[in-house]
Amino acid sequence: MPTVLVYFEDTYKFTDKAHIEYVANDERGYYCVLDSTVFYPQGGGQPSDIGTIEAKGVQLPITFVSFVDGYVRHYGDLSSVSLEKGEEVSLYVDEARRMQNAKAHTAGHLMYTIVESLDKNLVAVKGYHFPDGCYVEFQGIPSFENTETFIDKINIKISEALNKGSSVEASLITPEELAVRWSNTPNNLPPEKPLRVVAINNLHPTPCGGTHLKSLNELKSVVVTKVKRQKGNLKISYKFE
Ligand SMILES: [Zn+2]
Repeated sequence: MPTVLVYFEDTYKFTDKAHIEYVANDERGYYCVLDSTVFYPQGGGQPSDIGTIEAKGVQLPITFVSFVDGYVRHYGDLSSVSLEKGEEVSLYVDEARRMQNAKAHTAGHLMYTIVESLDKNLVAVKGYHFPDGCYVEFQGIPSFENTETFIDKINIKISEALNKGSSVEASLITPEELAVRWSNTPNNLPPEKPLRVVAINNLHPTPCGGTHLKSLNELKSVVVTKVKRQKGNLKISYKFE
């Protein structure tokens, strides 16, 4: 059975119980797979959670988490205790890091949604929401002429959005529902199966499996710092608090 992804339901749930499925190793080292997890595995431009798993009263540090073919792998030094299938363990996600990642990621959604609304030629294609420098890359020929003016425009729109403090909604939704609820639907959605999408207020929803804040109220600021061409794409860097 693929791992149940509890972090989908609630970004703010940092602890949970789960059961061991198996322990194995790959080129990264030893990892355990559970029946469910609150740990976010690295992907979608967002770093993995870290934390601890407690088994038989022993704290096991989890230093990296990945997602492979439906299964979440929790890596760390698991050697101090033997983990058997079905054993109940307690999960503790590093709260500060989770929230920092959720902030970075949500700030990225806000920024690119505003950029796409200001310049209809630009389409966000890649996000990088790591602490060493967040950015989003866009495809398309920009229609703006002056970069500094464009940055100012984006930052004004971002401030307005933050002042409104719109809610951020992540939900499972069918493409038909998408089309009804929002007119500006991305046209590259898979046709049948329900999709997890995130939307900020009524701004267009994007398929996404990351962890998000509930509201823009939790962001003090999001500021675009740099816009430059890179390998044919437009790279827009931002910082946030
Ligand atoms: Zn997202």
